[in-house]
Amino acid sequence: MTVRTRIAPSPTGDPHVGTAYIALFNQCFARQHGGQFILRIEDTDQTRSTPESEQAILDSLRWLGIDWDEGPDVGGEHGPYRQSERMGIYKQYADELIEKGHAFYCFATSEELDEMRREQQARGETPKYDGRGLKLSEAEVQAKLAAGEPYVVRMKLPEEGVCVIDDMLRGNIEIEWSQVDMQVLLKADGMPTYHLANVVDDHLMGITHVIRGEEWINSAPKHLKLYEYFGWEAPVLCHLPLLRNPDKSKLSKRKNPTSILYYQRAGYLPEAVLNYLGRMGWSMPDEREKFTLADMQANFDITRVSLGGPIFDVEKLSWLNGLWIREDLNTEQLADRLSEWALNRDNLLKVLPHAQSRMETLGDFMPLVAFLASGQLPLTEAHFAENRLPMDEQKQLLQFALWRLEALRVWERDEIFNALKELAGQMDIKLKDFLAPIFIAIAGTTASFSVMDSMTLLGPDMSRARLRQAINIWGEVGKKQLKKLEKTYQGLGQSAD
Ligand code: GLU
Repeated sequence: MTVRTRIAPSPTGDPHVGTAYIALFNQCFARQHGGQFILRIEDTDQTRSTPESEQAILDSLRWLGIDWDEGPDVGGEHGPYRQSERMGIYKQYADELIEKGHAFYCFATSEELDEMRREQQARGETPKYDGRGLKLSEAEVQAKLAAGEPYVVRMKLPEEGVCVIDDMLRGNIEIEWSQVDMQVLLKADGMPTYHLANVVDDHLMGITHVIRGEEWINSAPKHLKLYEYFGWEAPVLCHLPLLRNPDKSKLSKRKNPTSILYYQRAGYLPEAVLNYLGRMGWSMPDEREKFTLADMQANFDITRVSLGGPIFDVEKLSWLNGLWIREDLNTEQLADRLSEWALNRDNLLKVLPHAQSRMETLGDFMPLVAFLASGQLPLTEAHFAENRLPMDEQKQLLQFALWRLEALRVWERDEIFNALKELAGQMDIKLKDFLAPIFIAIAGTTASFSVMDSMTLLGPDMSRARLRQAINIWGEVGKKQLKKLEKTYQGLGQSAD
């Protein structure tokens, strides 16, 4: 048997360090067994998936030095490798399950299902699909289909007993079938859900080992049942521990930058980031801290992954990055790295149009643009004290601006400006006062060139990371406070109508 592993990211946002971590472990496992590693794009959620996000995922994995044998950009025998290009495949499998009696039509409207959940909650039960579609007679189903009533296809599941998942790292995991919902496989618009598409594609692509994050453990019973219904051999399952913030909570961008592009922009070396990801729950047999991808592949043993949540600590990563800079690059190589990273003619040509009008000497240039080449800025409350708005309003404004900019699909100057101008209008704040805290968060001072230009040059990941960092200067925003802010924020659009 040839080992075949895969990652299957959904292109719905910034390229996440968690995706790179899972990719790295899958790739090492495949390489160590002389097998293949595949990259598949799971973009069945057409409202959230974007080509920009897909490109960013591919670019950032390549930047790290991870390569794949088959994928949307390199092709392969089992393509296409983008689920949106495989839409013709899935319905026949849902139909097959209906024919075999393993799946059924459900015609319930979303109002009826809401009502069902409300009633269950009122009775103190956990809301769950009650199997109403199964109670329809064959004649009723045929009549509804003939009348063109909208439907979804759901899978049947046992009502009693336990599902035993044999996990490569965790041994047997038991989940009671009564806890598992009769999953929708085909949506009303004929699109497959993640579960159906994922299982069908893993099978058709010959995946032998599914190595993914532990957040997918609860999906495993449904997947194993689907393999059984189809009569296919299930892949070996392995659920890796989730990356965590230093306070042990699940790694989140509110507390730590999570986009690989942030680390690229902030001047981390790809080999150091990859090395650090390799230390997430795994270590070299001799426990050495610094190792290359080739070292890791040569020594990889997945059974040595420890299940205690690995901490992704930016300070530790910076320390390791420093080792790489000091010990592995000679001066010439460091000069080349700096030039590849930011100090090159192309970059200068992008930045100079904004700096030139503010320069009297060439020596003014470096201080003017230093913020563009930094990671996090050394900001404190004092930096915001000069601004006209009270501190709490500045903090609220920064959070609202962040939400607006997180929703932006296209990161261009005019789009950024229009989004912020609209928000300032909705908050009834003069644009100049509104932009002052954003200036500080992005450039460290209001005496810089246009903050829109700065954000365009910094790109979305670094700009958003700076806003998040600024918001946390006043202390981490608690859940309760966040809820309150969200409510006010949602009210904004409505009052403007
Ligand atoms: N599309 C899923 C994700 O976004 C894939 C999960 C899996 O590996 O099965 O991570």
